[in-house]
Amino acid sequence: MSSDLVIVYHRQPYEEVEEGGKTVLRENKSPNGIVPTLKSFFGSVDRGAWIAWKLAEDPSKPDFDKVIEINDAYGSYSVSRLPLSAEQVSDFYHVTSKEAFWPILHSFKERYNYDPVNWPNFREVNWAFAEAAAAEAAQGALVWVHDYNLWLVPGYLRKLRPDVKISFFHHTPFPSADMFNVLPWRKEIVESLLACDDVGFHIPRYAANFVSVARSLFDVDTVERTRVPDKWISEGTALTERAVPTRLSYDGHEVDISVTPVGVDVTYIDEQARSDAARDKAAVIRAELGDAQLILSVGRTDYTKGGIEQLSCFERLLEADPDMRGKVRLMHVSVSANRNMTAYEEIQNEIEQIAGRINGRFGTLDWQPITLISRAIPFTELVSYYQAADVAWITPLADGMNLVAKEYVASRIDGDGVLVLSEFAGAAVEMGDAVITNPFSNRSMDSAIRAALDMPEVQRRDRMARLRRAVEETDVRDWAPKSLLAYKAPVVPAA
Ligand code: UDP
Repeated sequence: MSSDLVIVYHRQPYEEVEEGGKTVLRENKSPNGIVPTLKSFFGSVDRGAWIAWKLAEDPSKPDFDKVIEINDAYGSYSVSRLPLSAEQVSDFYHVTSKEAFWPILHSFKERYNYDPVNWPNFREVNWAFAEAAAAEAAQGALVWVHDYNLWLVPGYLRKLRPDVKISFFHHTPFPSADMFNVLPWRKEIVESLLACDDVGFHIPRYAANFVSVARSLFDVDTVERTRVPDKWISEGTALTERAVPTRLSYDGHEVDISVTPVGVDVTYIDEQARSDAARDKAAVIRAELGDAQLILSVGRTDYTKGGIEQLSCFERLLEADPDMRGKVRLMHVSVSANRNMTAYEEIQNEIEQIAGRINGRFGTLDWQPITLISRAIPFTELVSYYQAADVAWITPLADGMNLVAKEYVASRIDGDGVLVLSEFAGAAVEMGDAVITNPFSNRSMDSAIRAALDMPEVQRRDRMARLRRAVEETDVRDWAPKSLLAYKAPVVPAA
């Protein structure tokens, strides 16, 4: 019970690799991504702790230490590993989180799957996370809980430890009440979130949606509201909101509602982009392309990412415009993270099928329209593809933020390149200088990619300069919930 900052995130903060029959813990290869970002906050406190789960054959007798001490580039901190059985993981993560919550969070009601949900298991797992956090937190500590699969943690933790500050951040969209209230556990979830001191979101729309959901379920008063800053108003785009509630009161308790868009590590990406290795690799890619323009699409294989809509658009364009053939190439990186889940396997198969059909219909010995990649490309290599691509094509149907869009812009130290971005990615509210498109409209998708390919250099550079300023504004090094920033100043008094 000694940590000033307890981070509750379902994954462990390192990679577990097998070496000579032994499991070794290795720091994540790239400092880019959410885990390194979260670990970096341990630098601002005396002592940190991390709570995650770990697969155990018999959770009552795990063959590993539940709490370990880690010493890495981010300092020393403890990691509590909650032993979960394969069945618990499947029920808690693959079923309840991914089959029931994920579709609703991204507004895909038709994909919502209620029947297999084991709610008692979801409660138990969340309770275990809350107990572990309660055991690690010092008096008055900040407990920072991440993402929807831990929705019930704040409510349980508040009962166990009334003294701690609880902050919760959503990495996904948060939908309107019409959508969210499809979840039969809505009251239990929202009541737990209302036990927080601070509930955080990427953009004002998700914060406003949360507040309207809370008001639909409880007698909640909005205590403060503010105008959305101009930098987050992207005129005419779907996710723009003009005013946002910043504080609620419920049952005698006040809750801050904060909007802190996650950004990328601009300095790190800049260093990568300026390295000789990245530039050389980008030059090789460009040389291989010859005179062809490269469109790059990068994302996880997920129905929310709009991969099928993109491939259909590309097929329409090649069909309608024979002049494009031989002159444009699409590199479609669709990383299959969850091959073992039916919904993702179906999407992956469909993507492979459409890409194969397009290559078969239009490809020649010298020119293949689509290069499909299903494995993850290491980040340092990805930077070179970002640098070589004439167009980054990022058109999710729904996306909490989308960091690929920001990484592309941060990599373009040459000031060139065009970003085509869906208006349903959270990033669109900060990145209105992209070519904004609506992936639900064929006409909008087709004209956006044509405009990007034909854009004159002056306009490309002008837009890219403004996009680069927007990305610098939300550098992830400055990202933290209000409660953490407040925490850094006064030291918590002893009990
Ligand atoms: N990514 C990667 N290699 C790949 C594809 C993606 O390293 O081949 C990384 C990418 O650089 C980004 C992250 O995966 O940092 C995806 O984050 P994003 O916010 O775009 O989408 P999410 O997967 O979180 O929905």
